[in-house]
Amino acid sequence: MKRILIDPGHGGSDPGAVANGVKEKDLAWQYSLTLKYLLQQKGYDVGLTRWGDAFVPLGWRGQLAKGYDVFCSVHFNAGSEKAKGTEVWYHDKKTRGKQLASLVERELKKVCSSRSIKKDTNRYRTGFCVLRVAEGKGVPAILVEVDFITNPEMAKLLQTREERIKRMQAVADGIDKFLKGG
Ligand SMILES: [Zn+2]
Repeated sequence: MKRILIDPGHGGSDPGAVANGVKEKDLAWQYSLTLKYLLQQKGYDVGLTRWGDAFVPLGWRGQLAKGYDVFCSVHFNAGSEKAKGTEVWYHDKKTRGKQLASLVERELKKVCSSRSIKKDTNRYRTGFCVLRVAEGKGVPAILVEVDFITNPEMAKLLQTREERIKRMQAVADGIDKFLKGG
């Protein structure tokens, strides 16, 4: 059975982005639970790097990836009030991380606007340290910035169950395609 590790961004003393009454850590947790459920429905063994509102250091999250077939971190973006669209980041040192990112982005852009896949090249960009550590363990890793919570309309939409299921179904389908050979 293939194993997938989901990493709900931030948590505990680290709220991540805070905008329009939404904390990134809370949304990341809800979306991660939905993604976990949808992947389990497809028959995968799914783990989480944090349970509930806990603080887990970034390096440790990546270390936990060892032995998994896919690592997927779930985050929400911050920018201008007008910014919108999903981004799928990958590091792609020695695994097929780029292919994983492409397959997930291809599904996401069927259900929302996309700002494309993005390669993490800045070594010191702390939020993406998880990708490098997971990659270092030989695990294909992506970080999904689901959308911008700094956009008031988007913040409202993202809190709906429908939107959450729609987006996480797309991510689950992309991961499923990757694990079935693209
Ligand atoms: Zn984040």
